[in-house]
Order: sequence, then structure tokens, then C-alpha cells
Amino acid sequence: MFSFIPQLLIGSADLAAALLFMYGLWRMSSPVTAPSGIRVAGLGMLVAILASFLYLFGVSAAAAPHLLVNIALAVIALAVGGGVAWWSGRKVAMTSMPQMVALYNGMGGGAAGAIAAVELFGNRAQGATQLVVTLIGALIGAVSLSGSLIAWAKLDGVIKRPLRVKGQKIFNAAIMVATLVVGAYLIYATQGAAQPLMSAPHLIELYFALSLLFGVLMTLPIGGADMPVVISIYNAFTGLAVGLEGFVLQNPALMIAGMVVGAAGLLLTLLMAKAMNRSVSNVLFTNFGMAPKHKQGAIKGSLKPTAPGDAGIAMRYSSSVIIVPGYGLAVAQWQGKLYEFVKLLQAGGVSVKFAVHPVAGRMPGQMDVLLAEAGVPYDMIFQLEDINSEFASTDIALVIGANDVVNPAARTDKSSPIFGMPILNADQAKRVFVIKRGEGKGYAGIVNALFYSDNCNMVYGDAQAVLISMIEAVRGLGLPAAA
Ligand code: NDP
Repeated sequence: MFSFIPQLLIGSADLAAALLFMYGLWRMSSPVTAPSGIRVAGLGMLVAILASFLYLFGVSAAAAPHLLVNIALAVIALAVGGGVAWWSGRKVAMTSMPQMVALYNGMGGGAAGAIAAVELFGNRAQGATQLVVTLIGALIGAVSLSGSLIAWAKLDGVIKRPLRVKGQKIFNAAIMVATLVVGAYLIYATQGAAQPLMSAPHLIELYFALSLLFGVLMTLPIGGADMPVVISIYNAFTGLAVGLEGFVLQNPALMIAGMVVGAAGLLLTLLMAKAMNRSVSNVLFTNFGMAPKHKQGAIKGSLKPTAPGDAGIAMRYSSSVIIVPGYGLAVAQWQGKLYEFVKLLQAGGVSVKFAVHPVAGRMPGQMDVLLAEAGVPYDMIFQLEDINSEFASTDIALVIGANDVVNPAARTDKSSPIFGMPILNADQAKRVFVIKRGEGKGYAGIVNALFYSDNCNMVYGDAQAVLISMIEAVRGLGLPAAA
């Protein structure tokens, strides 16, 4: 009844959505334009949803006797999914964002897997090419779903340590081979049959079960230090799976959106691997479950606590300070107060810079987002490779809620899970202050020798309370602000 809606309109809406996705992603390449980039990409998603409804009305009207049921189901799914996303997006704490990103990654993979399931069980993946692409999309989507759920559990602390057992790599490889064999058999056994896939529902179920199992097994052994790479790999997988299923459905918006996410995820994976000084193949095929047993050597020196006020005053009388923010700052949510403190230092003529490590926090870019939220100008924020040589000539390094990203064991201790990872050279500053609550370890679970070194003082306390005391102490000096 709605067949008058021309194909051209649907195609144009798909194209518009794809262009909006690409333009949105392009704007996300700079922190200044990123917020509008997100809105543009959101608009693209809205157009893509409208295009899907146009498709439902226009193209499949004749072929789909269940048109109204399909539309009702789509509206219910949109309302439930959109409602949950809206509610959780507004409610989520900054510290839980990484878990949420992992969950949404998994949902993208799950959605791609679900499309593949509909195609396979509904016997719609006809022809060898179509079937192969559907099966590859199903595999990648399912791995991304179950793997992301394990990543979520690890980020949320539900799974506290990597699960490693003897022979795990061989077992994982066997599961992968079994999955591929079932997939290949599905293609072989169903060629030429009238209702090809209908004849093999149990094989399809087995294929999905093995793919999901592989995602779980692949992620369980991964240690803390490799998690950033894993999260971005699943991001890339999800995009790839969606793109492949877009090809199966011949939906250009899905294809382009999937490929854009896949390519962005791949680039992020390469960046994260570079930040950890690992090759992606090393992470994928060697390091999964292969972190050497870490024996923490004896650490020389002692922990030397100092009062927040004293640390604040020392910074006020210095000429240069580099601040290293870490996960603890995201926990404390006191980035606004940190910038207030920085402005006080600057008013007194102190040069202040921020040094951001690519894997600081619990998700790529988390520190940049925190600092942007506080209104810190972008020209004060430096990435590792741009600032690392400056620490040696800096009076004070202020490490706030960071640990692993300034741990010198990464340079020297071959048995350390973070060995080889480039770190911020905070230890090379003339003096170091570390704000943290106690003896808590970082995500990699290792002691930090920096805290015991001669030039380092610990400023114990929650970052919130410490910053307030520092601000009060500096204000208490009553020094005239510099011009
Ligand atoms: P770490 O996890 O190494 O250390 C954070 C430190 O913050 C802890 O030692 C903790 O010590 C302190 N802290 C926690 N809460 C507070 C608070 N309220 N006030 C003050 N201090 C606090 O953080 P980094 O950013 O240095 O390193 C990130 C780690 O996370 C790396 O190992 C990285 O591989 C991993 N990772 C990163 C991901 C990413 O994508 N960026 C994803 C997954 C993992 P205490 O308890 O004593 O206060």
C-alpha cells in the first residue's frame, strides 16, 4: 500500500546518513569540534532509522505480510533501547564510562550477530558469497559481544584478575579451528539444496555457540596492561561485523557506518598498541595469556608523606609544574578544582602543563575528556611524546591519581606486566608530588618504585580533599597575582 515511496528516497536517506556519519567522525578528530561531531553523527543515526522505516513501508510492503507487526516491533525496540540508553547515558558516572563503552561495543557486535542469525535461520543468506560474508559477520559480531561482556566485567572489577591455565592457548586455538570447520561445513553442506540453511539449524546454533565461547576464552586471560588494546580491538570488530552485515542486507548506511567504525577502531587499536609498545599481532597471538610471571623486586627507599598545603606552597614557589592526571582524578571527579588550583599557580607566574598518557584512565581519551570538561585550554595539554623530554628540566611533577603510567618498572623490570610500555618521565622532574589515597596499586596491580624515590613525596588523601587544602594554602599566602 505504500509502494509509492520511491527507492530513490530511501537511497538518498541512506546516503545522507552515511555522509553525516563521516562528517561527524571527521569533526571528532579535534577536541574543539568533537561535541558537534557527536551531534552530527547522532543526526546521521536518526536519518538512518528513518530510512529503515521508509524501507519497511516502501520496499517490503508487498513482500511482507507482517508489515504492521514488524513496524510495531521496531517501534517497541526503539522505545525500549532508546529509553534505556537515554536513562543510562544521563545516569552513568564518569568512572563507569569505560564499562558503558565496553557494553555498547558488545551490543553493536550482538546486533550484527543478530542480523546474521535472522539471515541464516531465515534461510535468506543465499549463494556462496552471501553465506560466507554472513558467517564471517556472525563470527566477528559474536566474538565482539561475548568478549566485550568479559571486558566489561574486568573493567567493573567483577572479574578481578586474568584467568590463565596451562594449555589455554592451544585450547583457544582448537575452539577457533572448530568454529571455522563448522562454518566451512555449513557452506559445503548447504550448497545446491533447495532450502539450504533450513537443513542445518543445529550447525548454525553450534557455530554461534563456538563463536561466543571463543570471545569469552580470548578475553579471560588478558591482563590489565593489555585492556586498552582489547577494548579498541572489539570496537574495530563491532564496526567490521556491522559493515559485513550491511553488505549482506545491501544497506549502504549500515555498510558505511560499520566500515567507518571499523576503520576508526583499527586506528585506535594501532595507537593503543603503540602506546603500550606492543605490536597488534603480539597482543593478539602472543600476549593473550602469555604475560610472564611477575616477581616484584625489592624496592629501595621509603614513602615520604607530606601535607597537601606544603605541596601546594612548594608548587606556588616553583617556576614550572607538569601535572600527570590518571584514573584517580576520574574517580575523584575534581578536575574543576584542579584547574582552579592551576589558575592560582599561573596567576603567580608558574608555568603549568598537563601531560596525558594515551592509556591513562580506563578508556582511550578519558583524561582529555576530563580536562576538557574542566575547561582546561587545549594548548596546555600535551601528549606523551610531546612532553616527555621536558620533565628533566621541570621543577615539580604533580601526579594526581595516576600510577601505572608513571611506573619506572616499565623501563627496567622485564617481568613486569607493563614492561616496555612508554611511561611519562615524571620521575625525572626535580621534585615529584603524588596525590593518592593510600597504598592502592594501579590497574596492573604492581607497586610503583617512583613513590619510594628520593625526589618524591606522597600527598595522601582523596584528590578532592587534597586539592581543596592546596587551594586554601596557596590562597592563604596572599601573594599578589602576577599580571
Ligand atoms: P592506575 O589505575 O594505574 O592508578 C590509579 C591510582 O589512582 C591508584 O593507584 C589509586 O591509588 C588512585 N586513586 C583512586 N581513586 C583516587 C581518588 N579518589 N583520589 C586520589 N587517588 C585515587 O591509573 P593510570 O591512569 O595511571 O593507569 C591506567 C591503567 O589502566 C593502565 O594500567 C592501563 O593499561 C589500564 N587500562 C586503561 C584503559 C584505557 O583505555 N585507558 C582501559 C583498561 C585498563 P589509591 O587507591 O591509593 O588512592
